[in-house]
Amino acid sequence: MLVRDIANKLENLAPIEYAESYDNVGLIIGYLHQKVKKILITLDITEEVIDESINKKCNLIISFHPIIFKPIKNITGKTFSERIIIYALKNDISIYVIHTNLDFVWEGNISYVSKLLQITRNKVLFPKKGTIKKLNTYVPNNYVEKVRNSLFEAGAGNISNYSHCSYNFDGFGTYMGNKKTKPFFGQKEVFHIEKEACISVIFPSFKLNKIKEALFKSHPYEEIAYEIYNIENINPYIGIGTVGYLKEKMNEHEFLFFIKKKMNFPCIRHSHFTGKKIYKIAMITGSGSFGIEASIKEKADAFISSDLKYHDFFKYEKKMLIVDVDHYESEKFTKKLLKYFLDKNFPSISVYESEVNTNPIKYFF
Ligand SMILES: [Zn+2]
Repeated sequence: MLVRDIANKLENLAPIEYAESYDNVGLIIGYLHQKVKKILITLDITEEVIDESINKKCNLIISFHPIIFKPIKNITGKTFSERIIIYALKNDISIYVIHTNLDFVWEGNISYVSKLLQITRNKVLFPKKGTIKKLNTYVPNNYVEKVRNSLFEAGAGNISNYSHCSYNFDGFGTYMGNKKTKPFFGQKEVFHIEKEACISVIFPSFKLNKIKEALFKSHPYEEIAYEIYNIENINPYIGIGTVGYLKEKMNEHEFLFFIKKKMNFPCIRHSHFTGKKIYKIAMITGSGSFGIEASIKEKADAFISSDLKYHDFFKYEKKMLIVDVDHYESEKFTKKLLKYFLDKNFPSISVYESEVNTNPIKYFF
């Protein structure tokens, strides 16, 4: 098994194209062609995590948070991240990062936290734009089924719980090739009319290359007529954060106690109580202060996130309880989620969750 095989599978789960522009995901240290012995999953990379990787004979570390965010001009060991890079390279350890691209998918860390808190999710808080494209192509009648099926196989035509969605209409195409052509129907330098159908399908933007490949392989013509559009429609299941409902209404005290216990938080910071019962929840795991206003607009009773600042707590507008939880503790489930995913897809490879608690924040009671 190569690093490339693991990377491809992870990118099926969380396409790299979904990552935020400031982020740095994918293989950031090492070789795609390296043979993988064992895998270690961590939230952050520290020297202790590399030590653990060496002890457990893992030569691939999958980290949630990147160790490199900005371009580095030289690597001389003067900073923490440069020392990690050198240490990893000296020990033939590859490092792969799956971060905000995982946050954007429905099955990401937030799915795990929602299950723990018994939240039934109905959509994301901030849907990602530009995730859907549309293809129109024109196919001679006898090849319509072949082309359409190959587009479906490549990932086109899925709308929520429906697959094989397409729109088709009959018409005819005209063409006349010059003397350099070899037309599939008709003859060169002769005007030709062919009965054709237009197939129209939508597909996820990150599958563009696969869709084009499927079209070019299955379409019989020398020159294929097709158009690809960006469409404005959003997918309510791709984006940051979540909106959903608790299993039952709770008062604010009960709610805070409930999440503290369920998620093992050392302590929770929160805004003034509103006196309302808590039922509708908005949540962003990791740093999410940017989600307060959107959560109020959603009429959420509570917003859960991390790394909120003093002034953020003033924004509750007496309408919504703002709850600030530990960043590490709310994201640590990523390790379990990725282990489950890799065990299922690569049963022959040993995958470990790092035992190092990399939380840089400590609490003094
Ligand atoms: Zn984070």
